[in-house]
Amino acid sequence: MKVMKFGGTSVGKPERMHEVAQLITKDNKRKIVVLSALSGTTNALVEISNFLASGDKASASIKIDQLHEHYKNFIQLLVAKEESRKKANEIIDKHFEFLRIILLISFSESLYKDILAQGELMSTKLFCVYLEEAGIKHALLPALEFMSIDANEEPQLLAIRTKLNELLQQLTDVDIFITQGYICKNARGEVDNLKRGGSDYTASLVAAAARAEVCEIWTDIDGMHNNDPRIVNKTFAIEQLSFDEAAELAYFGAKILHPTCIWPAQQENVPVRLLNTMQPEAAGTVITKEAGSVGVKAMAAKDGIVAIKIKSSRMLLAYGFLRKIFEVFEKYKTSIDMITTSEVAVSVTIDNDQFLQEIVRELEPFGTVDVLKNQTIVSIVGNEIAQTKNVLQKLFDSLKDVQVTMVSYGGSPHNISLLVPANEKVNTLQLLNSGLFGL
Ligand code: ADP
Ligand code: ASP
Ligand code: MG
Repeated sequence: MKVMKFGGTSVGKPERMHEVAQLITKDNKRKIVVLSALSGTTNALVEISNFLASGDKASASIKIDQLHEHYKNFIQLLVAKEESRKKANEIIDKHFEFLRIILLISFSESLYKDILAQGELMSTKLFCVYLEEAGIKHALLPALEFMSIDANEEPQLLAIRTKLNELLQQLTDVDIFITQGYICKNARGEVDNLKRGGSDYTASLVAAAARAEVCEIWTDIDGMHNNDPRIVNKTFAIEQLSFDEAAELAYFGAKILHPTCIWPAQQENVPVRLLNTMQPEAAGTVITKEAGSVGVKAMAAKDGIVAIKIKSSRMLLAYGFLRKIFEVFEKYKTSIDMITTSEVAVSVTIDNDQFLQEIVRELEPFGTVDVLKNQTIVSIVGNEIAQTKNVLQKLFDSLKDVQVTMVSYGGSPHNISLLVPANEKVNTLQLLNSGLFGL
């Protein structure tokens, strides 16, 4: 079994969907094809939801009509036969009927999740209509029947495997399965999702659940680049990464991968390949247990970081002080990204400031608490980076004029993380690109 995931841009135009059909029929292997929503759709659904949440039904209605129009035009170019167009339009009309009905009912968090799910539901069904017209035998595996998260919003790999296998066993004569990325059911049995960009996570979970031979992530770029290509001019694709390296890059902001999508594949040792739909012959990046080489491989940046410093000359050395601090973050389900300590202070960073006020209030009895907002973590990743000669020297030489707020080094053998003010991000990434890669 093989898993092939196609992102929003890979299915965002009718001709792209045609290319996807070619890519999935290149070999005769049994495969599960995970699709995202057409590019722009999830953003549009978020916008519609925001209008509804703020009571602006008129704007929501206009946006729904615009999106519907977009899909009608898409169908005209996706399929050629009148019969297929009719079928596709009937499918789409039902989803837009749902969106129009919600204009009449009161908005809620669970409704929001239902709205967001429409994108992947539509893209997969439209793709199936095209496959049918093209005479390509396939079956649609509804993700809502096997993809689930628990009460802590964690995917349940074992349950996913059991349900997926049951579905696959009912369809032994089919080799191409299509399923929705991103969407799932939660512990309450409601429609939910794996957070923005979550189709990669679906692909990795499905690959682990099916113990696939490979998990291919097809996107609009030829693999993981050494630096963020949206920000830095000269970047290049990396041939090979270890699961650990890729996981750190994804977690620390490399948008090409969902932050937590590596662990399922890693757990079952399924190689992940990052490939380009627009350039299918390019080698892309392969992610396996082995790193391939040592030294600096890439860097990524994660925005929206808040640093919290707790200063206490009395308590830091006392037993249990750090535990008490961590317990505050645990209580508010807020995970810590970076941490540095000195004898009189401890600084941590968080990327979710939902409970910032409560956290600060509960930390205050331990010492003086300072909060620094609008920070960015820049992570430099590479196998055994901590042992690589001159890396630290080159790094600090490159950043001599940048105001670095925190440095974390040695926690993992393949990561050096820096905290810089958000307005220094672009400069930092560019300077490091020249300093560490000579570009
Ligand atoms: P998809 O819709 O296929 O999931 P995404 O937009 O989520 O695609 O991810 C691909 C994009 O990630 C690329 O177009 C690129 O701009 C961006 N990106 C950010 N950092 C990196 C990186 N280090 N390497 C490659 N792409 C990156
Ligand atoms: N469609 C979802 C999003 O835009 C999931 C994904 O594309 O991975 O976030
Ligand atoms: Mg993505």
